[in-house]
Amino acid sequence: MKIYGPIFSWRLGISLGVDLVEPAPGYDKICSFNCLYCQLGTRSEKTVKPRSFGDFSDLAQRLKKTLQGLKPKPDYITFSGVGEPTLNIDLGQIAREIRKTTDIPLAILTNASLTTDEKVRASLEEFDLVVAKLDAPNEALFKKINRPHPGLDFEDIVSGIRKVRAPVAIQTMLFRTKDLDNTKPEVIDGLIRLYKEISPRQIQLDIPSRPTPLDKEGGKGEIERLSEKELREIAEYVARETSIETIYYQPPQPAALEREALDLTGSLKALLARRPVTILEASLAFGVDEEEVLKIIKQLEKENLLECFHTEERTFYKLKPAKGQ
Ligand code: SF4
Repeated sequence: MKIYGPIFSWRLGISLGVDLVEPAPGYDKICSFNCLYCQLGTRSEKTVKPRSFGDFSDLAQRLKKTLQGLKPKPDYITFSGVGEPTLNIDLGQIAREIRKTTDIPLAILTNASLTTDEKVRASLEEFDLVVAKLDAPNEALFKKINRPHPGLDFEDIVSGIRKVRAPVAIQTMLFRTKDLDNTKPEVIDGLIRLYKEISPRQIQLDIPSRPTPLDKEGGKGEIERLSEKELREIAEYVARETSIETIYYQPPQPAALEREALDLTGSLKALLARRPVTILEASLAFGVDEEEVLKIIKQLEKENLLECFHTEERTFYKLKPAKGQ
């Protein structure tokens, strides 16, 4: 179980990541979905069965030590990582252990598929914020976008989210490809109907800002990103129709982070193992010059450890899967 970051998150501020799952060799992630836009890659160890991911007895203490070296303190400790965190059967207990060592709020980014399970919902009660994914208003589009495990049912998931007893934010990824489009007015209206039913404290409208497997397979432009104007207009419409606070993707902003005894290479590698990152994002995340990040990136490239993706405006780096995978 790994601690990574802190990173600057457009929706959570400064966020220190905790990764509770680990895919089997040969897979990019362990998840109950295999979303079209997933930045982790296409090889999903697809499961709906929570299991143990090993000993977590030292995790809270390691986190406490990491926090001691951070200034300012993160806004959130966020459970996320290389897959779906609710697949860790010890989720609730881990959150309780961490709570004993810090008063920083706990958030979890979940695809919400296991909220159908009462035990998972009980674990989610330990969090100050449950950010639950909802990309489609119906089963057909849900299957196309999220490519779920065959054992999952869309209506059951929506009903599961409604039963979560912790504060919930709904995150929706908006995008278009040549075959599907969840930004059409009728789709947005369908989502609005569900937002009203679920009544979250916040709606977060996201875009696939990082390279996706579709971009890699199909080349540039396979996923069409919304412009800032389009996204803002949809967010304003959703906010008006639902009367729920609605925020939308913002590019990373500088965050004045200080760290004592920062192992920049180790921290950068941990981050690059989990998501494609630009040099600017990494420098903002760790509060260091872009030059410093660039030096390490060059070294990692020399060691043939990095994959590099280009979008129209930015270059992203990601750690290659470990040998044997
Ligand atoms: S739910 Fe998250 S981790 Fe799972 S496939 Fe979708 S984007 Fe990737």
